[in-house]
Amino acid sequence: MPTSTRPNLTVSNRSPEGLKGLDPRLSRLRIDAERMQSDFDALSMIGSTGDGGVHRPALSAAHLEARAWFRERVRQAGLAVQVDSAGNHSARLECGLRAEAPVLLLGSHLDSVPHGGRFDGALGVVAALEILRTVQEAQSEGLPRLPVHLEAIDFTDEEGTLVGLLGSSAAAGRLTAEQLLAPRGGREALLEGLQRAGLQESGLLAARRDPSRLAGYLELHIEQGPRLLGAGAQIGVVRSIVGIVAYRLTFIGRADHAGTTPMADRLDAAQGASAFLLGVRQTVMADFPECVANVGRFEIEPGAFNIVPARATLSLEFRAAQPRALEHLEQVLLALAQGEAARFSLDLQVEPLGRHAPIQLSPAARAAVQSAAQALNVRTLALDSGAGHDAQMMAAVCPAGMLFVPSQGGASHAPREFTTWQDCVQGANVLLQAALRMAEAA
Ligand SMILES: [Zn+2]
Repeated sequence: MPTSTRPNLTVSNRSPEGLKGLDPRLSRLRIDAERMQSDFDALSMIGSTGDGGVHRPALSAAHLEARAWFRERVRQAGLAVQVDSAGNHSARLECGLRAEAPVLLLGSHLDSVPHGGRFDGALGVVAALEILRTVQEAQSEGLPRLPVHLEAIDFTDEEGTLVGLLGSSAAAGRLTAEQLLAPRGGREALLEGLQRAGLQESGLLAARRDPSRLAGYLELHIEQGPRLLGAGAQIGVVRSIVGIVAYRLTFIGRADHAGTTPMADRLDAAQGASAFLLGVRQTVMADFPECVANVGRFEIEPGAFNIVPARATLSLEFRAAQPRALEHLEQVLLALAQGEAARFSLDLQVEPLGRHAPIQLSPAARAAVQSAAQALNVRTLALDSGAGHDAQMMAAVCPAGMLFVPSQGGASHAPREFTTWQDCVQGANVLLQAALRMAEAA
């Protein structure tokens, strides 16, 4: 999902309070950049579209091939492979002091949007795996054991080809049978995907992780927007993930002969819908500068040159990082729709189609990322994510945090999506150091 809310430009190099110093043996740890690059490049070839992008919709053949590749890389590293009943794939490193130590999850997703970029999700998974190998090697050379075990996780269907945040909502125990009956990608596509992957619907609903076993969740992701580069920062410390509300609005008028009906006598549904469409942009830009709204679909019926439109149906989606702003925007946009319907003497049908509340990420996780970035002399920017991520689901059950690395040109969900390799490596090292800080605090 593309990023969009306006930044709060707090560029900071201050030391976060409340974090004690890390054992020097831990603070010196760095990932193996070459090994991570060879993973990233190999993964980029799976479902490659030949123009720098990948096509790996959830549970498609290419996505399953990427997951088979992941399992193989995990085995080659001597780590344990774990696949849960929602298809979430994990590498486990039992690096905790005690067998019953909680687990710190690091991860993202290996699925892509159709004809998407090769960094979205994939970077977070290969970085997580690389961190497990780094800690494993260091422990074999005498690094002390940690208060937690580590797990690198690839969540199922983050992008919403089928359901959206499917694996993480299942792991968080937030998935409902109802969602599976009317998924956004259609019921048939979901059932076909599950069959290809050898998964069961009942398994999706049974994949809940025990929150008391989770020390936290950290996710490295590309920003998918232009703010980090604009602010001259290399790491985004994510404060919150925006809330998203969706509606289908239908303006209802009357079909008439387009040649013989006088202009003043028409009940033209497209007029009210168009006035609303233009009003949405104007309203958000004038009164809600920290929000975004989109009308991504506009259908007119019956849809002919010579018939006055009887129905115009719009798909409206809007996002805000603050719950109050989201609610206020909702009231204003629905009132705008009512107003334009009345102005053109139309009826209005309002169907709510989903709502995700804004999520605040864990202050402890943010402090860990901030402290890690500072230790590595990396300039940070605190920001809100305008896109949905698995971290918003994990935030419901454990301390969850996210860090972003810059997206060149702000591009994402397209083959031209690009993050410099230097930024990817830096992001992975900040993730490693943040994970060690979270582990020590557990
Ligand atoms: Zn993603």
